[in-house]
Amino acid sequence: MNRICLLATLICLASLSRGQAEPAPLGYRQQEKQNARYGKALGLPRDGDQLYLADTAYPRFPLPPGNEAYADVDGLKMKAAVEQITAFSRKSRADGNQYWGRIAGTRYDRMTEDWMLEQFQKQGLKEVRRQELKMKPQWYPESWKAEYTLAGKTVSIASAFPITGTAGTSPAGITADAVWIGLGTEADLQGRDIKGKAAVIYSIATPGGRSHSASWNGAMRRANEAGAALVIVIMGFPGNAISNPEGADGTRVPTFTISSDDGNLIREALETKEAVTIRIQADIQRKEGLTTGNIWGVLPGATDENIVIMAHSDAFFEGALDNASGMVTLLEIARHYASLPMAQRRRTLTFLSTPDHHHGMAGIKWVHDHYDFSKTALIVNCEHTSQTMLYLLNAGMMTSDAISARRWYVGGSDGLRNLVTDTFREFGVTTYAQPELKPGGELSQVYDKAPSFHLIDHVVYHTTLDTAELVPAWGMEAAARSFLKIIDGVNQMSLDEIKTTQSLHPKPLPQ
Ligand SMILES: [Zn+2]
Repeated sequence: MNRICLLATLICLASLSRGQAEPAPLGYRQQEKQNARYGKALGLPRDGDQLYLADTAYPRFPLPPGNEAYADVDGLKMKAAVEQITAFSRKSRADGNQYWGRIAGTRYDRMTEDWMLEQFQKQGLKEVRRQELKMKPQWYPESWKAEYTLAGKTVSIASAFPITGTAGTSPAGITADAVWIGLGTEADLQGRDIKGKAAVIYSIATPGGRSHSASWNGAMRRANEAGAALVIVIMGFPGNAISNPEGADGTRVPTFTISSDDGNLIREALETKEAVTIRIQADIQRKEGLTTGNIWGVLPGATDENIVIMAHSDAFFEGALDNASGMVTLLEIARHYASLPMAQRRRTLTFLSTPDHHHGMAGIKWVHDHYDFSKTALIVNCEHTSQTMLYLLNAGMMTSDAISARRWYVGGSDGLRNLVTDTFREFGVTTYAQPELKPGGELSQVYDKAPSFHLIDHVVYHTTLDTAELVPAWGMEAAARSFLKIIDGVNQMSLDEIKTTQSLHPKPLPQ
């Protein structure tokens, strides 16, 4: 009797201690350690109220002495402009587009171009114009639906998103039994028959969802080739974000990504040992004849040598980091120099906003093929300049009040490289220990044309997590100030001093 009482009390206490905090959310069953130390595992965007910090909560790197010329750069004003740009994306979603954002070739792209054109005019740039461009045929998902069924109960998979380049289905859709294949490596598939199944793969974001393990380790392709009927990739950011990774070009069957929350539900359904089926229906079109446009503007300088300052303007979802942060960095550079007399600008500044970075790069490719770079001293690519430092924390995610270190590149002379790295350090602009050997982003198309540099954070983008809440104002402010100082420094150097004497690649660091 006593023992039963004790047992009952223990069970009661155990359930109480679990029940006092909120009940374990969304399939996290084995998280006692997490719960004891941090409370429930947090995920984004669902727990944004606990994870997003106000801009003023981040330490602000003070303006280094002697740099009063850059005191006019105001991170909070830049942040307000980010919100104006992301609003075009939100309009696209509000209008009912399932594939939403500032997608090149859509009216939201056009609205963004119009806004940029207006900003160029407001800053007093000269020769402001739109250059109309034809886009190549586009993979274009119009609408889709995904759900799973366990024991007669069907649950919608709200976070499902077709991975760029994947195939659609007939209106009837495809239904298949789900099988879990871990990371989808060769080892995971040994001895497994996944023919006709819905292969569920866990993918690690490395570090962001655009580069993820199921893409670079070949899992998506491997599952396709092994005869799966559907391929489902769980994007390993804790929470319910919708992602749009790349890497499904050439896949044979519908290859979709889903959030960690939805992936946990499916895994736990599979752990019941009952059959779980997944159904996907997707209308994916190929659109031809879409058009878009580069936006150009010029601030004439004292000579005909020039500096090109560029930013891409298209985006998936809100695209606050990618690339509203870069667009406002470019605009801040324009505003700063427009307020100075022409005689103080040694070189002409050419501003360029390119529209279809993610859809074939028609804008920057035209520039590569036709623009005369013979008198270009420097290309400044403004792309993904500030993001909050994030951590995976047990089963959840933790944000911080720090600005994440960025990927970066400098191509040119040692003098240019030292100027860029010294200036980043001076302004507290954090970067990876090693630069890119070849730049990614929009700079990938023109870095062989002239000396160049960029910063390009690449953690949270191509996802619904890419909102202004994770784009700290002070990170954009410090980046813009450092870019201005680098441009001023370059204007103290001759073309020969900026251009490399060896190669356009940065020198490896000493051993
Ligand atoms: Zn970008």
